[in-house]
Amino acid sequence: MEETRIHWADVIAHAVEGQQVIATGITPSGNIHVGNMREVVTADAIFRAIEDVGKAARLIYVADTYDPLRTVYPFLPAACKKYVGMPLSEIPDPFGCCSSYAEHYLRPFSESLGQLDINPEVYRADQMYKNGLYTDATKVALERRDVIADIIESVSKRKLPAGWSPYNPLCEQCRRISSAQIVEHTPSRSSVQYRCQCGAEGVADYSRGQGKLAWRVDWPARWKILGVTIEPFGKDHAVAGGSYDTGQRIAREVYGYPPPYPVPYGHIHLKGRGKMSSSKGVTITISEMLESAPADVLRYMIIKTKPEKLIDFDPGLGLLTLVDEFDHGEGRAFELSRISEQSCDVPFKHMVTAIQIANDCDELVQVLHRSGYNALDTNALKKRARNVRNWLDRFAPEFVKFQVQRSVPVQVKTLTSGQRKALAKLAAALETNSSDPEWLHNEVYAISEEVGIDSRDAFKAIYLSLLAKTSGPRAGWFLTSLSPEFVIARFKEAAGDMS
Ligand SMILES: [Zn+2]
Ligand SMILES: [Zn+2]
Repeated sequence: MEETRIHWADVIAHAVEGQQVIATGITPSGNIHVGNMREVVTADAIFRAIEDVGKAARLIYVADTYDPLRTVYPFLPAACKKYVGMPLSEIPDPFGCCSSYAEHYLRPFSESLGQLDINPEVYRADQMYKNGLYTDATKVALERRDVIADIIESVSKRKLPAGWSPYNPLCEQCRRISSAQIVEHTPSRSSVQYRCQCGAEGVADYSRGQGKLAWRVDWPARWKILGVTIEPFGKDHAVAGGSYDTGQRIAREVYGYPPPYPVPYGHIHLKGRGKMSSSKGVTITISEMLESAPADVLRYMIIKTKPEKLIDFDPGLGLLTLVDEFDHGEGRAFELSRISEQSCDVPFKHMVTAIQIANDCDELVQVLHRSGYNALDTNALKKRARNVRNWLDRFAPEFVKFQVQRSVPVQVKTLTSGQRKALAKLAAALETNSSDPEWLHNEVYAISEEVGIDSRDAFKAIYLSLLAKTSGPRAGWFLTSLSPEFVIARFKEAAGDMS
């Protein structure tokens, strides 16, 4: 049993000592997808586990807003070509609605974080540089350029180009951050002289953010600047010779800082489509997913799985199974996944049935009342209804979809006399009690036996006469959700004069 083992987040919480800073970082270069959600949810689970053992912790998120735009991604207007190489924070929003390219992708992500009940302290890399947080780290990196280059070359087994520098100045002329070579370092002025591929020559003041450290140096520098002690990161950074390996050594040998407790995590694959990647279009954004699934269930999917394991995410039937598991949830993964927002008392799966019966909001409330739900908190209720509606439209497998037929379907002609008898008896049963789903469900079995038919044929008759399909939602719960007068009349009509 999984439960007898200590949860992975608690293992980490017990392993660390003293005040903890858990860091996450995602580059806002495109829609932040469900795969990226793993990083922040993993960090948040650790954060909660540490607080639960009474230790002090902070959760931070660094938005890598100062990274250059690497290419014109397929989702960008072709006109963005002129911005390649410029930092994301310095590029105008290609869609015109936010203050910069970076903010355009950060905004929906921040909203998603709120919905996932994750509340980190947010740092923007461009602000950190512009406010001088990196000044000392940059000076040290420039002065110890050779030591750093040796570490990177020997650990990554990769030759650095001649003239490589740990610092990339931002060219004043072309505004690119990865095209200039450093000519001279003047530590007393915190500046470098550079020569850019565009032909410009200039001076960059690194105390004012006129450039940034190369990723492999930026990361360990950041650990020290922010006091990071724990950090989850994608497995690709964790490979031998990867950026965590070089980062560890640079942290110790250049910055005299112990590297954080590493939590490498696996990818989230989209079932049947492989690794999620916004540049390849194999992606569901976090915001999109939160429109179709409960936030706590998405947390649960990640938290119940050990970080190093791959998650094969099926937003269709798989999500429904996950919701079920969560609704019967107990144990540590369930606890760490819960969110503070008032949740809806109507289970997701029941809403899938109810919303397909109801034609509007008022009717939905009636349907839910009939099946025994208070359906009180209208905001939570509306949110769940919206979630389920979106899920049905976007991800649900065909067999869970149905439509209650307004008139008797022609298929009832195919019903056997035994099936007709069963429907007539079921109508009579509903006349005595139409509000107890479990009793009614058992009645279907009892009646089948009475009239001498297979219970499966009785269920088929129910679905055929109401949905013009041979299957549907669990009968007892389905029938009690419908108006009893309607069902009784329909069963009588379908039964013909058998009654
Ligand atoms: Zn925008
Ligand atoms: Zn330039």
